[in-house]
Amino acid sequence: STITNHLPTAELQALDAAHHMHPFTTNDELAAKGARIITRASGVYLTDSDGNEILDAMVSLWCVNLGYGKPEMGQVAARQMNELPYYNTFFQTSHVPAIALASKLAELAPGDLNHVFFAGSGSEANDTNLRMVRTYWAQKGQPEKSHIISRKNAYHGSSVGSGSLGGMTYIHEQGGMPIPGIHHIGQPDWWSEGGDQTPEAFGLARAQELEEKILELGAEKVAAFIGEPIQGAGGVVIPPSTYWPEIERICRKYDVLLIADEVICGFGRTGNWFGSQTVGISPDIMTIAKGLSSGYAPIGGSIVSDEIAAVMNACEFNHGYTYSGHPVCAAVALENLRIMEEEDLLGHIRNTAMPALHAALEKLGEHPLVGTVNVSGMMASLPLTPHKESRAKFASDGGTVGYMCREHCFANNLVMRHVGDRMIISPPLVITPEEIDVFAARATLALDATY
Ligand code: PLP
Repeated sequence: STITNHLPTAELQALDAAHHMHPFTTNDELAAKGARIITRASGVYLTDSDGNEILDAMVSLWCVNLGYGKPEMGQVAARQMNELPYYNTFFQTSHVPAIALASKLAELAPGDLNHVFFAGSGSEANDTNLRMVRTYWAQKGQPEKSHIISRKNAYHGSSVGSGSLGGMTYIHEQGGMPIPGIHHIGQPDWWSEGGDQTPEAFGLARAQELEEKILELGAEKVAAFIGEPIQGAGGVVIPPSTYWPEIERICRKYDVLLIADEVICGFGRTGNWFGSQTVGISPDIMTIAKGLSSGYAPIGGSIVSDEIAAVMNACEFNHGYTYSGHPVCAAVALENLRIMEEEDLLGHIRNTAMPALHAALEKLGEHPLVGTVNVSGMMASLPLTPHKESRAKFASDGGTVGYMCREHCFANNLVMRHVGDRMIISPPLVITPEEIDVFAARATLALDATY
């Protein structure tokens, strides 16, 4: 903060360009333009190095659910730093924050998801899942039951394992992914791919691709299916109501483990504690990160069923991260969950934020550029289209119009992300109706400027 408070923006941008390689960025292009530098944040607003106040309708990368600047979070972190800044959990030791957080997650997670393996991020947690499901079946005497099925356009992280589980071809193109034994079926994206089918028929057909793939590989070779209850980075793809029940039925029929990647959907984003509850499934494993700590500290994990834990706990799983269950991160996550409960954040979402957001989005949906409103709880996307009725794509497909709109948002002090030509919305869960009005006014300006 000493640096950001004292150097002018242009100098910070020059240092950034000279020394900082940004993730998922063409750094030369960014250097020519200069990064927007965020210096502080409070509630739903970011402040940049020029003093602009920007409404963050993406909570950065879908994570700062509590909003920025909750003082209790910093106090808990400082206390834990002083008491026990770090200790590992590898060598027959444990510590209070990891024990307390694992116990709390077992209480919050549905059904028999009672056991937590910690990681530092969502990518690491999905790498854990990949190795855990294969090890689980090997322990049960079926080492050949090792293939994993995922979806095209899914995002599960960017490490080699989690990036392979994900289905984004532009990620696969770099660095030798996907690794062997991972397969991708179609995504339940009716808006883009449903053609003339009803959403229900399309959802069922896409789910049945799982059964076809299992039969093609042989059920005795398939360890698990992984999916986000609602695909986030893929464009907030809300599956038709027929999709998830059929996926779960197929997993059960062929003894294939069901992994729900709750990294975005978990911790209130869809209006329930977990997205699995919103779409009505009972997974064997849930991946968690982001909203677990509202992004205040890097932490993720896998919550697994009694059955999986019983098998895994009988062997030594040669897997783990230095920062698995990091005490400061665990204490911060625990405080995040405490605040969520104390402030009845789920009640606020259901009774106040969701109705206001959905009404605002419905209004934005009337804009001539907006094709439809995809929304579940507090996550949404607005696909931009030249023609609503036919769900047409722009000739310049590839996100040029979405990028323009994002730039107009930024110029109007609003953060909305674009995925291709879809505008993405994931506001702080604490957002008020008045702040949603500000969001809607700025989004309208950006849509008008793009039109
Ligand atoms: N899974 C999902 C559904 C995600 O959206 C993300 C990140 O956006 C990840 C996993 C990866 O998490 P991380 O970036 O913490 O590694």
